[in-house]
Amino acid sequence: MTPPPAVAADRTTLLARASAGEPFDLIVVGGGATGLGTALDAAARGFATLLVEAEDFAKGTSSRATKLVHGGVRYLAQGNVALVREALRERKLFLDNAPHLAQPLAFLVPAYGLSGRLVDLPFYGAGLAIYEALSGSERLGRVGLLGRRAALAAAPGLEPAGLAGAIRYWDGQFDDARFAVALARTAIRQGACVLNHCRVERLLIEQGGVVGVGIEDRETGGRFDVRGRCVVNATGVWVDALRQLDEPGAADLVAPSQGVHLVVDRDHFPSPAAMLVPKTADGRVLFAVPWLGKVILGTTDTPQTEIPLEPRPLAEEIDFILAEARRRLAAPLTRSAIRSAWAGLRPLVKPAGGGTSTQRISREHTIEISPHGLVTVTGGKWTTYRAMAEGVLAACFAQGLLPPRPAGVTRHLRLCGAPAAGAATVPLADPPGPHLYGAEAPLLAALPGADRLLLPGFSEAMVRFAARHELARTVEDVLARRSRWLFLDAAGAASAATPVAEILREELGGGFDAAASAAGFIRLAESYRVAT
Ligand SMILES: Cc1cc2nc3c(=O)[nH]c(=O)nc-3n(C[C@H](O)[C@H](O)[C@H](O)COP(=O)(O)OP(=O)(O)OC[C@H]3O[C@@H](n4cnc5c(N)ncnc54)[C@H](O)[C@@H]3O)c2cc1C
Repeated sequence: MTPPPAVAADRTTLLARASAGEPFDLIVVGGGATGLGTALDAAARGFATLLVEAEDFAKGTSSRATKLVHGGVRYLAQGNVALVREALRERKLFLDNAPHLAQPLAFLVPAYGLSGRLVDLPFYGAGLAIYEALSGSERLGRVGLLGRRAALAAAPGLEPAGLAGAIRYWDGQFDDARFAVALARTAIRQGACVLNHCRVERLLIEQGGVVGVGIEDRETGGRFDVRGRCVVNATGVWVDALRQLDEPGAADLVAPSQGVHLVVDRDHFPSPAAMLVPKTADGRVLFAVPWLGKVILGTTDTPQTEIPLEPRPLAEEIDFILAEARRRLAAPLTRSAIRSAWAGLRPLVKPAGGGTSTQRISREHTIEISPHGLVTVTGGKWTTYRAMAEGVLAACFAQGLLPPRPAGVTRHLRLCGAPAAGAATVPLADPPGPHLYGAEAPLLAALPGADRLLLPGFSEAMVRFAARHELARTVEDVLARRSRWLFLDAAGAASAATPVAEILREELGGGFDAAASAAGFIRLAESYRVAT
């Protein structure tokens, strides 16, 4: 199979294009799932598109998800069938368009007779049967009732004492930050200008309308203005800062809520299937998900007032997850088992919102258009990023900000690195390695350092690939989001910081401060470790 041509995502060229003075049709602020999906859709429809990300792609909430591609069973309980149906349709497209980064996964809902949970089985079984029925032809696998022995065979590592059986259902899982990078590269391939480490610090407002943005290049401190017919604020939990540049004093739209995940070694739950605890002590759900050779446990839901770039897990959140997981896993689980702990902020939309909006469409996500024409989109979930992007463009058309062009161009648009249809992929549950590069593995193998491992399954060539083709600019970009070591094993990741910095110095040239980049990452990795 011939790999697709490599896209040289050269930052200097992209910056020169952004600052050349040519106006864009659409300027998207924020390089998470929402912004990247919108930029890709707009570029694929032929609009001149610029995306500006202040840090790195998926630095915000979009690298901190539970990694599920799902319809949202909980909306069924609320009777929101249309929303679940849409998410299930999107789930299938998500998996089809990036099979190297998103795949089906079996989930077991265990039932414990001794705790009285056995009575819940028919309830959950019926709900999941409806979930499967709503999937229609996009079903990923059959819902089934497993007896005790079959449940333990399907999910070794479940606590056997009192286990009566389990329900098995199917959803998807993915690598969120790598998916974001693939979206960025695919958008570039479709003609978009996509920049990371560039911050929008001002809105240009003329004659009562937003006509562009003022940008700071965080690497050089250089500043320039860019004009556009339409500006989309896709800055996640940070949308209010930009909204308030447009409308000083506008009431906040977002109420952040923190979700924490813990990562432990696979021997604590050596199962190819994930586990869902449907009702924790606080009445929510908890997942144990095999991912890249480790297991992710989570999550929590803690209202926050601050919105830092690096939210930190609270001690009580860590203890809560450990206590809930201990009830369902056979292996002992203590703080010393935790390899990495990370938190993300959900951009929950306040019911009554603020501002003097002319338009607000509220479903799971919200799209708001201000009197000056700033389009703000927030909320929702990774799974539905593509449909949200279509919603954003439809809102721009409806408001007369852009001339309408037909939707649906991204439905079957395969992302960068996707192997040919039908080609085999390595399960995401397996340890990381060059297979994550999918169809681009031959390009990777041809780079210097393919044989020199910096961590198990992570080579010098992967760093070079990240710098040359994936817009990685710092040690953190490489070890947190081009590879996922920070999220899998914070101490291991820190040990690779200096060699990664040295390779980046060769790739990025004299302006790159290798020592500062490595030291900054080592400090960050320390904060992902949990004191025992
Ligand atoms: C704990 C948790 C678990 C989740 N699990 C799942 C899951 O399993 N499946 C699922 O489908 N969804 C899940 N979600 C939801 C999903 O992760 C989010 O809906 C999604 O990532 C939000 O993306 P976003 O692009 O809107 O925001 P973000 O990813 O936060 O992106 C916003 C970006 O804007 C940038 N930015 C901010 N200000 C500026 C500026 N002035 N200039 C330029 N850039 C700026 C930030 O740096 C950031 O990168 C989960 C969410 C949480 C919190």
